[in-house]
Amino acid sequence: MTEQDELPNAKRHATMLSSSPTPANSQSQRPSLPSNASTSALSESPDGSLPRRTPVDWRPVPVLLAEVESHTMPTARAIVARVDLPKQMSAVIAFIQQCMQPESARLEHLRRVRKPSNSVMQVLICLVDSVPLLRTHHEISTPSDTSSGSDAACNGNSSSSLTSDQLLLGIKSLLQSRGVADDKSQVLESLSLCVTDVPERIAANQQQHAAGNALWPLAHASALTAAKNSALAEMLFSDDELQRMDGYMDIAIAQAQAARAQGNSPIGAVVVDPATNTILASVGDCSREHTLAHAAMVAIARVADAQRQEYLAALQQGENGAPASAEAGNSRPVAELPYLCTSYDLYITREPCVMCSMALVHSRVGRVFFGTPHPDMGGLAGARRIHAEPKLNHHFLAFRGVAERRCAALFCDGADTE
Ligand SMILES: [Zn+2]
Repeated sequence: MTEQDELPNAKRHATMLSSSPTPANSQSQRPSLPSNASTSALSESPDGSLPRRTPVDWRPVPVLLAEVESHTMPTARAIVARVDLPKQMSAVIAFIQQCMQPESARLEHLRRVRKPSNSVMQVLICLVDSVPLLRTHHEISTPSDTSSGSDAACNGNSSSSLTSDQLLLGIKSLLQSRGVADDKSQVLESLSLCVTDVPERIAANQQQHAAGNALWPLAHASALTAAKNSALAEMLFSDDELQRMDGYMDIAIAQAQAARAQGNSPIGAVVVDPATNTILASVGDCSREHTLAHAAMVAIARVADAQRQEYLAALQQGENGAPASAEAGNSRPVAELPYLCTSYDLYITREPCVMCSMALVHSRVGRVFFGTPHPDMGGLAGARRIHAEPKLNHHFLAFRGVAERRCAALFCDGADTE
């Protein structure tokens, strides 16, 4: 089978059930496709139902950013003004808006005012470490008492020994360093200032939101983010979807077995368009032929190869005004062609390594389902969670535990060179 035979160049969702892939420019012989690695295993019955399979004994588990999975809310220490008289409130808010704008940016995840039961109104002024004079205070580095977020924190029971006068002095020095007139802070001189613990950032899940709210009321956006992430953590798939995933992973496992028979790592991968449930690439690890030819890398390359063929066909059709061939007659306009793995799913028997995880980011993949984790070297489920790294410009969903037992069994007596 030649490369051209494997890659129908004009069909949008051509099934590419190639055998274990070969790196570019390599002419080494490929193992034949295992008999069970066929899309027919996933074809639907005439009535639209999926063929009967044994119910799966696994559930996909979303892999979230570590801070999202944590139920702990980190805290920061903030300066709070106690407002005894309602008429003072507008003056304090005006002071904050006029003089504390740079510091306010760090408090956007919090409500500015709270009214504890049996106490007076309290207003957030700024974080303690925003004030250079206070940042050097030896008390600032003292671990805070977890109970100090209560109203008692502003009644002298906080772990901080900073007095109201010291806090006022610190704020004045901050304003002076920015050239703000001294009389601007007069409103604070009639108020009692104290230190209390507040949530350090927006809540990433319901538990963090509850813990944070117990310290200081969080902004509404925090509740929305917490609800979204919690819903993701509890994402459920229908039985039909699980059956389909199981079938895709069966094909990946068959590819892994074929790869192992060739002396490669027992890792297989399948790329699927979930919009049409069409397999776009089915490959095995090929690192014996090329060090970088991990299963995920080869899968992305296969998708890219097919898209390049389609792109060339679409260009030719556009120039000639007619299909370049019978197959090219189905070409879509260039503007409608997909970009690599955008919105596609990758099923892979083992968690991708860091290199492959970054390649998946660049490919714009939509979701990655993997079987067995790759401790130390994995890029998704360990210390590195590249699919959710905030500093990257593309994120995708990752799920672990898909047919994990069968995927882990691939390594029982096989080579592992990746
Ligand atoms: Zn890799």
